[in-house]
Amino acid sequence: MTHYYDQHLHTHFSYDSEANFTDYLENSTGVVVTTEHFDVANPVSDGKTDAPDYAAYTAEINALNKRYGNRILKGIEIGYYAPKEAEILAYLSDKTYDLKLLSVHHNGEFDYLDEFVADMPFDTIMTRYLAELEYAIGRLPADVLAHFDYGIRLFDVSVDDLKHYEPQLLRIFQKMIDHKLAFEINAKSTHLYGHLPLYAYAISLVRKLGGSLFTLGSDGHKLSHYQLAFDELLPWLKTQGVTELVVFRDGRHEFVTI
Ligand SMILES: [Zn+2]
Ligand SMILES: [Zn+2]
Repeated sequence: MTHYYDQHLHTHFSYDSEANFTDYLENSTGVVVTTEHFDVANPVSDGKTDAPDYAAYTAEINALNKRYGNRILKGIEIGYYAPKEAEILAYLSDKTYDLKLLSVHHNGEFDYLDEFVADMPFDTIMTRYLAELEYAIGRLPADVLAHFDYGIRLFDVSVDDLKHYEPQLLRIFQKMIDHKLAFEINAKSTHLYGHLPLYAYAISLVRKLGGSLFTLGSDGHKLSHYQLAFDELLPWLKTQGVTELVVFRDGRHEFVTI
């Protein structure tokens, strides 16, 4: 039986991580897939594009796969930003991945995790972020909708706050399902930003719409966050009615019973 493994992970091929593949390989036994940041016009980097060096990424994986029995798969976390869509598509056009995450991290002016965002009005941020997220889905090929709550991670949000946006959330999740994207349960959001109740609510909406593809990812940038709280989250998911998760290889998913 395939054991479930982390579907959202970073190494030094991401601009904001210093982790090595070996950190994860030597502290696990199964498959390791990394999803490196590709953020065009990144405000965190003064508007420059942060892209993984694909040739170096592939070369390091090929070398390690010889030493570690082909345990590593290739992935990317695509930060969608509409004004630079052509640049995103051009970068992706000649590259292959096992797993592609779709994210919205910034709006060209600021990243939603920039400290000052926490002092802005919740509804201003939520409205702007959800519009960008809704638009992003289907604009490029991807496998997973990552951290649906990224834009509001810095806010102390209740389920009632989210319910004001239920019609739009339903549209977003329906679009996600129509484009065959899996819904990601993001362990950093649930366990470091306190958004577990928001995920319970979101999962209930996705299931109500008939969605059946779910992934669990730590969003780890270092070993201490690898498979973060998976021992709690896997049983918790069952209480939410999610008994199977999916893992990706070459863009195709396989169900794993949890
Ligand atoms: Zn992300
Ligand atoms: Zn990430």
